[in-house]
Amino acid sequence: VSWRALPLKLVLFSLLLGPRVVGPGPAAMTTDWVSHQVEPGETWYALAWRYGVSAHALQLENGHPNRQQQPAIGAVIRVPPSERWPAAYTLSPPGGGLLRAAAEARTSVWRLALANEVAHPFRPVHSRTLFLPGGSEGAVELPAGVTALELSQSWPTPGQAIGLRGRLASPVAPQFFLDDRAILVFASGDRFVGLTATGAFYAPGLHRLDALNPDGTLWSQPLSFQPGEWTFQQITLTGEAAAIDQASIIAERERLDALWSLLTPEPYWSGPFTLPIENYLELTSEYGARRSYNGGPYRTYHEGVDFSAYGGTPVLAPAAGVVVLAERLYVRGGAVIIDHGLGVYSGYYHLSAVESEVGQQVMPGDVVGGVGTTGLSTGNHLHWDMLIGGTWVDGLAWLEQDLACWLLEGWGAPCGAP
Ligand SMILES: [Zn+2]
Repeated sequence: VSWRALPLKLVLFSLLLGPRVVGPGPAAMTTDWVSHQVEPGETWYALAWRYGVSAHALQLENGHPNRQQQPAIGAVIRVPPSERWPAAYTLSPPGGGLLRAAAEARTSVWRLALANEVAHPFRPVHSRTLFLPGGSEGAVELPAGVTALELSQSWPTPGQAIGLRGRLASPVAPQFFLDDRAILVFASGDRFVGLTATGAFYAPGLHRLDALNPDGTLWSQPLSFQPGEWTFQQITLTGEAAAIDQASIIAERERLDALWSLLTPEPYWSGPFTLPIENYLELTSEYGARRSYNGGPYRTYHEGVDFSAYGGTPVLAPAAGVVVLAERLYVRGGAVIIDHGLGVYSGYYHLSAVESEVGQQVMPGDVVGGVGTTGLSTGNHLHWDMLIGGTWVDGLAWLEQDLACWLLEGWGAPCGAP
């Protein structure tokens, strides 16, 4: 019975019941419609093998008549009941096309073509992964030389740090891109981790995760971002604050940009990150808050997290790292910046006292300064920011997701106490 023959009523009925969302796990035949949230490498063909249905049926059901367009990572798709027993052997992408893959798998080229919905065995299949019936693993199509690939969150929000981790079969990791921006990738033996950041103005909706394979071919899968929830702040600048020196602001930013773009190719941290302040009064401004100055447009957002606190309250290193800046700046006042490795930096500003030195190795909980209201600030508070590859990320989300430990796991290192 083809899924297309199912009466519409039955489809609607199963919709009303609410589809089951199934996660990764061993494949099994299904007699119901199920929902599936797409993970990296789950192309239409891989999903077809996972559920024992045709790729075409999946594409039609999910409004994807274009065969080139893969399902978006994070999207929830509807899967009809199985037509055949799912699960497959994954054959590596055939450099020599179907003929060579068939010879290597000791099967007929016709059987391979039929199983993979290729119209004719002599049609080029490029670097597509091929599948054969049997086996027990979930089918995925990954970039060349990558044997496992995970994203820290399959449906990220703009402004959140995004982690990548996986395993390599070849000594060279592919280059990964989010849209056209390179993702920071660090390899350690046959493991690799990656980190990227979008900023809080990144548009929700469909974006693209690409991998440029060492052989020059491209692996690409859409990645879907969910809308963020942002607060809006109207700020009135008067007197001294309104007469700020734009040239000094730009010069300070350029200097810090140069600092933040330096990459330490290993993590300094060995446990989860903690909050950089214990005794604060209130969280006064979140990351990403849209800001309008003197009634103007909401053209900027808050790049860090503000904690109001009494002057002199200790400011603590949230994780191990190396201090790369410790001085008084024009905009940020008393400032400390810590390099945590893998392109991750954290900063502490408006400090009344800077209690650390450039080059100093800090451990989590070490006092690096005291809360103050130096620089362009209107009251005692700590402005804490976190950057990845020079782009601000939501530090509270970084803590909540425990990306630090997730990345260490991908790196093959234990995640100890903070
Ligand atoms: Zn702030």
